[in-house]
Amino acid sequence: MGRVATDFAYLATIVAFILALKFLSHPATARRGNWIGAVGMLIAIGVTFAQKSVVSYWEILVGMAVGGSFGAVAARRVKMTAMPQMVALFNGVGGGAAALISLAEFHVLAPDPGRLHGDISVSIILSALIGSISFAGSMVAFAKLQELIQGRPIVYLGQQAVNGLLIAAVVAAGVAIVAGAEKQWLIVALILGALLFGVLFVLPIGGADMPVVISLLNAFTGIAAAATGFELENNVLIVSGMLVGASGTLLTILMGRAMNRSIANVLFGAFGQVTPQAAATAATDGGTVRSASAEDVAVMLAYAHKVVFVPGYGLAVAQAQHDVRQLADLLEQKGVEVSYAIHPVAGRMPGHMNVLLAEANVPYPQLEEMDEANSEFSRTDVALVVGANDVVNPDARNNQGSPIYGMPILNVDQANAVVVLKRSMNPGFAGIENPLFYNPKTVMLFGDAKDSITKLIADVKTL
Ligand code: NDP
Repeated sequence: MGRVATDFAYLATIVAFILALKFLSHPATARRGNWIGAVGMLIAIGVTFAQKSVVSYWEILVGMAVGGSFGAVAARRVKMTAMPQMVALFNGVGGGAAALISLAEFHVLAPDPGRLHGDISVSIILSALIGSISFAGSMVAFAKLQELIQGRPIVYLGQQAVNGLLIAAVVAAGVAIVAGAEKQWLIVALILGALLFGVLFVLPIGGADMPVVISLLNAFTGIAAAATGFELENNVLIVSGMLVGASGTLLTILMGRAMNRSIANVLFGAFGQVTPQAAATAATDGGTVRSASAEDVAVMLAYAHKVVFVPGYGLAVAQAQHDVRQLADLLEQKGVEVSYAIHPVAGRMPGHMNVLLAEANVPYPQLEEMDEANSEFSRTDVALVVGANDVVNPDARNNQGSPIYGMPILNVDQANAVVVLKRSMNPGFAGIENPLFYNPKTVMLFGDAKDSITKLIADVKTL
């Protein structure tokens, strides 16, 4: 395939990737975005196959068959609650691939020291360095989320100094290679050092912050892939790598903002390490917890004018999205105005609640983002909190001593009545008490969210 035809086909891929990102940004068009991205990737693979420079087709095909089947089976089987670790795994192997390509390129291009051009050696070093950090870091993130290792931050004295020295040594090895010391052992040492750094960098970060870390490592993988694109002189890899790099960076910033935490605090704050003290600072206002039966709650719902569903991580655990939709439909038939208040970091990954509710075909106009929902709570009769905790914790607004102080929350306590569906008084992700449960306006409906909603459906039907 000629150079011009190749470049045009790659351009089509790039346009497809950009359109895919655009469509993926709204639940209504996300499926289309996915398809457009897949078609773009197919074009890129087809065009790359048509290059004269391909040395062996069957080796590539075997690799694609092994990787493709693993990816397809894993993606079909994964539970929604395990999605973050799945993303970590897929992201990590992307970074690992970039690092391996640099190792191979270095081996082929630099048999004798001093032969590499500066631009190529810089790209090789960057993709080896960033790709290795992303691979090792993502594997630790995967292990924490899969509970193969403890999720709590693993910290020791002088950790940041050790990490600082290690990364300085790795960068120094990279600079030495670019300056002409093109020794094979040096790049191997650089990759091993970067792998170790990836592990040590993610270990002190709490399991709860892993989604933010994964998003950051995703940006790293994108940058490593773009550097690989320079190495291989492949434009489509450069642009798609940068698209991943830019979107991963933006997502990381947005997640940090939604939790009111700086990225430095996520990376170096060892959040989740001091749970008992954090719990002690929570203000419960000396109130008591009132629990209600499903019958009582059904009456509250059926005779309300406006009910707002507030989904959280527990909805994903219980897989109660279809039942929630059924209850909402039933209430609408009884003339109740229904909507869903979506907090940007409800659940364990960005867009978690949107994906769940879209799966249950909840009409998009009923989904309200945080600001819109907050302006509605004062005219809401019942806020029905389904497995959410931190994202409705008023301490974020009122208690300066709380670890989540300053995080924007859904102000459900401004509704006339609040019903909280959860199994126990256990805390959520941040490991802290929630004074909302002690508020005189609040009643708790204890039990698995799916069971509770099923009971509510049955009881509302009788009214
Ligand atoms: P939380 O983790 O604060 O609370 C979830 C609640 O669900 C728990 O209190 C739990 O209580 C309850 N629950 C669990 N299983 C069930 C079940 N089967 N049925 C009923 N209830 C259940 O979730 P939120 O969504 O409110 O908050 C998300 C948190 O995650 C925030 O702190 C956010 O900062 C953090 N986070 C979110 C990210 C994102 O991208 N979305 C990324 C990183 C962090 P019980 O055990 O008593 O049932």
